[in-house]
Amino acid sequence: MKNQYKNHRTFCIRCGTCCIKGGPVLHHEDKKILLEGHAGHQHLVTIRKGEMALNPASNKLELIKRELVKVIGKGKEWSCYFYNEKKASCEIYDHRFIECRLLKCWDTSELKAVVGKNTIIRADIINSSDPIMTVIETHEKECPCYELERLISEISRGKYKSRNLERLTEMVRKDISIRSYARSELGLKEEFEPFIFGRPFFEIITTRGLTSRISDDSPGKRVPEKR
Ligand code: SF4
Repeated sequence: MKNQYKNHRTFCIRCGTCCIKGGPVLHHEDKKILLEGHAGHQHLVTIRKGEMALNPASNKLELIKRELVKVIGKGKEWSCYFYNEKKASCEIYDHRFIECRLLKCWDTSELKAVVGKNTIIRADIINSSDPIMTVIETHEKECPCYELERLISEISRGKYKSRNLERLTEMVRKDISIRSYARSELGLKEEFEPFIFGRPFFEIITTRGLTSRISDDSPGKRVPEKR
């Protein structure tokens, strides 16, 4: 009887499952929420083009073909930053994002209709004259996610292992050095880094089965290793 009730539910019981699975992707309709100050860039993370990410429509890890901006998780978890577990509620409920408004776990058709449509990219919410835009362009050029994914995939299959590990090390180092340049030269605060540059490469490779250790001979240099 209990299961039958669950399967035929037509209203939210505030179980929090959808918020715990991860924060929403932002659409142009959501820009107002940022402009009104209910959420800020420090609450966002960019999923870069070429990165692997969970598609909520298919519930599968897929290669991202267009940059996405979403609400960041808590610590290392994907659970939405705005989800208050103690109160089982959303901290910005009255101003929540369009995907949150459309998601009904008993009927995902409305959400599926908007997934991947009219989504924003970083340039939509950063002033075009902000010098950080040039650093983002350099980062995209020097640290492309498509290449990172190719290297991870080839290393995991044992293909050109030493050559690929060398290139991967170079990319992880470049990623760190561009981030550190933005902090020291442009005063970028650490809390904005996930939005400005996406997840650090050393973090991504760890989730993909590679570890990263700080090299003994060069402070700040991270060296990928196969687990
Ligand atoms: S913004 Fe609010 S409703 Fe949307 S996923 Fe986060 S906690 Fe849940």
